[in-house]
Amino acid sequence: MASGSNSLMWFRKGLRIHDNPALEYAAKGSNYLYPVFVIDPHYMEPDPTAFSPGSAHAGLNRIRFLLESLVDLDYSLQKLGSSLLVLKGEPSEVLIRFLKEWDIRKLCFEYDTDPYYQALDIKVKNYASVAGIEIFSPVSHTLFDPADIIQKNGGRPPLSYQSFLKLAGQPSWASSPLSTMISWLPPVGNVGNCEISKVPTIKELGYEDIQLNSVRRICVQDELTLFKGGESQALKKLRESIKNKDWVANFEKPKGDPSAFVTTATTTLSPYLKFGCLSSRYFYQCIQDVQKNVKRHTLPPVSLLGQLLWRDFFYTVAFGTPNFDQMKGNRMCKQIPWNNDDELLAAWRDARTGFPWIDAIMVQLRKWGWMHHLARHCVACFLTRGDLFVHWEKGRDVFERLLIDSDWAINNGNWLWLSCSSFFYQYNRIYSPISFGKKYDPSGNYIRHFLPVLKDMPKEYIYEPWSAPLSVQTQAKCIIGKDYPKPVVSHDTASKECKRKLAEAYELNKKLNGLVSDEDLRKLR
Ligand code: FAD
Repeated sequence: MASGSNSLMWFRKGLRIHDNPALEYAAKGSNYLYPVFVIDPHYMEPDPTAFSPGSAHAGLNRIRFLLESLVDLDYSLQKLGSSLLVLKGEPSEVLIRFLKEWDIRKLCFEYDTDPYYQALDIKVKNYASVAGIEIFSPVSHTLFDPADIIQKNGGRPPLSYQSFLKLAGQPSWASSPLSTMISWLPPVGNVGNCEISKVPTIKELGYEDIQLNSVRRICVQDELTLFKGGESQALKKLRESIKNKDWVANFEKPKGDPSAFVTTATTTLSPYLKFGCLSSRYFYQCIQDVQKNVKRHTLPPVSLLGQLLWRDFFYTVAFGTPNFDQMKGNRMCKQIPWNNDDELLAAWRDARTGFPWIDAIMVQLRKWGWMHHLARHCVACFLTRGDLFVHWEKGRDVFERLLIDSDWAINNGNWLWLSCSSFFYQYNRIYSPISFGKKYDPSGNYIRHFLPVLKDMPKEYIYEPWSAPLSVQTQAKCIIGKDYPKPVVSHDTASKECKRKLAEAYELNKKLNGLVSDEDLRKLR
């Protein structure tokens, strides 16, 4: 790389200054640096036909989080003598145009395993290599390079967490200090007549008042502030999460309380990891530092470090599995004759199943864009193999849209898991939509908070309000069937039926060695 030339840093995820090897390399030896983010209509254009405010792919909570993260990034870049250039359009076209326009000789961006970015990157890389532009695209979103792990495993991804751990070992960078902060950046070069903007507001993106109002109706303001986007917030939250060393040392995932909403049972750092406002490697090192200074600590898979390794596990499997995000053509997915009942799906999605525990979780998803891991387990199990027998891909789509931490590899991996389509096969173990939540929160405070229509229901009935005598319902100002729905299914009957169908489907998958045809599935329906 000749010194004195122009470089372009293409931000996609990795919206941070700390532990950002692509940004560091972009700055090295360059006279001018163009830090760019492309507003991609595929993700950002308002879609008035979608079931909730937002674009076709993302709910408004996530879009807002992303814009906040960009504002924060711009601010940090300005402190280093630079600034964020916001462009709009199909990213590979926009990128190629500006590589030419600004005579870029070095292009840097974080490697991304998401299929959408893989396809974009091929186009950009093809152009750059023909034009003689140097490309630097390091792996820094995950702890390990998924391709390395797959290669170590003879070209196939490991399909269990334990085999993943064995292959992965200790990350090579774990015990040496990461270059966490950049102290200076080259100035932005001349942008010519190009259309550059500052980070747009949500209104400037075209989200009309009507969309904003409907979101405000469901989003209580102080709950939204739980997830303000950006690296500054991420680092602050990280410091708060790890300051209690005992909490970190004793972290044990399945023991957390999914109904805790005043102080959550886990770190709530997932939205920051999703957009790369927080480096997972930096997070890993911070946990390691705590663990070094305590006598005893929990271990993977249940420890906090173990959670980050789950993240890498799903990234690795997803990267090495064709059609990972669907049932058809996915060699690791059981073929199951799910139904496509849109009414049941809508009842689940819109918190109208009549099971308060399930509906409260779905309201939390709409309001916060985040729920505890076990809460996600409960609603995913209920929609698929537990009660409604709706296709996991439909539930995945709802999560993909509404979660702020929505992540292609992790979301698909967990839906495969929860629907007993892959990884986990004990389909007889079902989360009860009545008794599971009660174990943690017998008074139903979580339900009262997220479903205020039930706030005066006595605790004896809060998980099964349909069983309350009419006089109790009247007193609680909540008549079942009028103010709050009756249950969409009988849990006992529906769960038995689900188990029966899964047993049949598993049998067929075994007999046909997974090569089950559409016709076979139709016969099972
Ligand atoms: P913590 O417990 O504090 O863990 C720290 C970090 O470890 C998390 O931020 C996350 O990055 C990672 N992590 C924790 N649990 C898991 C897990 N089971 N799998 C992979 N990584 C994990 N997580 C997402 O980040 N994006 C998703 O789209 C997503 N979809 C899910 C869908 C379903 C059906 C289920 C059951 C789980 C899903 N999860 C997803 C995993 C998990 O629920 C969240 O990562 C976790 O609840 C985030 O909260 P936290 O940051 O407080 O987690």
